[in-house]
Formats: sequence, structure tokens, C-alpha cells
Amino acid sequence: MVVLTGAGISAESGVPTFRGAGGLWENHRAEELATPRAFAQDPELVWRYYRWRRELVERCTPNLAHHTLADIESTLDNFLLITQNVDDLHTAAGSKNVLELHGSLWRSRCTQCRKTWTDRHTHLPDPIPACPNCGAMARPDVVWFGEQLNDEILNRAFGAASQAAMMLVVGTSALVQPAALLPQVAKQAGAYLVEINVEKTPLTPISDLFLQGSATQELARWWEENAPGSQALSLHVE
Ligand code: NAD
Ligand code: ZN
Repeated sequence: MVVLTGAGISAESGVPTFRGAGGLWENHRAEELATPRAFAQDPELVWRYYRWRRELVERCTPNLAHHTLADIESTLDNFLLITQNVDDLHTAAGSKNVLELHGSLWRSRCTQCRKTWTDRHTHLPDPIPACPNCGAMARPDVVWFGEQLNDEILNRAFGAASQAAMMLVVGTSALVQPAALLPQVAKQAGAYLVEINVEKTPLTPISDLFLQGSATQELARWWEENAPGSQALSLHVE
């Protein structure tokens, strides 16, 4: 089983989605801040935004949907969780095999020597943090709009999608590429596609099962009905 999650799975933990209510910061849209261009123009502003996001996410804990995915993983032999989220809530819930497509809020990266390091600071001493290795300007280790994803991570994600018997897509608008292609690849390769979202998305028409509602409710209910022993899952995953 391969799972793809987006910002919607963390919404009930209190992490705002980019396109939903609370997605604005000081009247800026995420698409104006989470870009290499914004960082080149005003790194201090972009770091203030990420400091705010760290402070916000630090107060959030995993919800029933994150926990259910950790539970599913502990039951199945062959499981991969691909997330577009940068909040680390899947790992906090106990998920092990997690592929972070878009990096992590809790890592920084050097703009010069490319060193990456765990960085849990919310109160940064300097307006723009410096690399501990070479002293150059640091940036959040996340993938910004318009940036390339890491090749190795991308290959693993597409490899898994093309071999999946079932793909579960939870809380993603399916608008951000190339992540939105993963369910299409899985479907074309014969996977059974289950989508959970509060609203329809461009993926809904190709989904085999669309469960409209909140991630916590729908995922927990789906798993209750389909955990091993039940016919529905064994039909598609064995
Ligand atoms: P998105 O903001 O574009 O879409 C969120 C989706 O979740 C929408 O389709 C919405 O209908 C759905 N949704 C909202 N509340 C839900 C709920 N309670 N249950 C189920 N579905 C719900 O997010 P995206 O598709 O992940 O892509 C945008 C980018 O935003 C990604 O690159 C991601 O890195 C970034 N992002 C991450 C976080 C996070 O780490 N938590 C938060 C905001 C944005
Ligand atoms: Zn450096």
C-alpha cells in the first residue's frame, strides 16, 4: 500500500492548509513567500514566515488520521507513506516508512555548502540563521514553489506508485506537481485508488472510491471497515 498525504491531513491538528482559512500570513499568500525569488529578495521576511510556521506547528500534535496511518503501517508488510507535508506529524504519530517529498520545517540547509541539519529553533537568535559549517546564509530545507524535488526521493516515490496495489490519497488538493501525478501513475499501473477529502479534487474522477469528509473521521472509519480480515482490503492488497 502506498499513501499520499497533503496539508488536509494536518488541518484537524491545527496546521492551516495553504489554500484554506488561515493560509495567509501577514496578508501574504504562501505562493508569495515559499519561493526562491521571495528568499532572494527578502530572506529576512521569508525566515520570519518560517519562524511563525515553526511556532505554530510546534504547538500541534498528530490527530486520529496520522495515528490511523501508523496503525495501518504496523499491520501491513509492504507500506510506504509519501507526504507533501513539512510538519513531521506523521513521524510524531509513529509512522516509520515516510518519504518527505517537500522536506521538513525542522531542518535548515546551507545556501552555499548545502549542509543540512536539524533545526528546531523557533526563536532564532539572528534574523537570518548562518550555516554552522561555513557561516553562509541558511534557508529552510523545504522545497519551494518552482523548485526541483530531490531526484532520489522522486524516483522512490514514482517507483512505489507504479508498483502499488492500492493507493490512499488523503487531504491533498492534487494541484501541486509532481506529487499530483503519483496517484495517476498508480492508477495507470492498476492500483485501486481511494481518495479522502472534504471536497472533490481533479483526482476524484479517476478514484475508485471517494470518501468525502474529514481525514480523521473518514480514514478511521475506512480502516475499521477494511482492516485485515475484511474482504474489501484483502481483495485489493494481497
Ligand atoms: P493544499 O493546501 O493545496 O490542499 C489541502 C487539501 O486538503 C484540500 O484539497 C482540502 O480540501 C483538503 N482538506 C482540508 N481540510 C481537510 C480535512 N480536515 N480532511 C480532509 N481533507 C481536508 O495542500 P497540499 O495538497 O498538501 O499541497 C500544497 C503544498 O502545501 C504542499 O507542497 C505542502 O508542502 C504545503 N503545506 C504543508 C503543510 C503542512 O506541512 N501541514 C501545510 C500547508 C501547506
Ligand atoms: Zn555552509
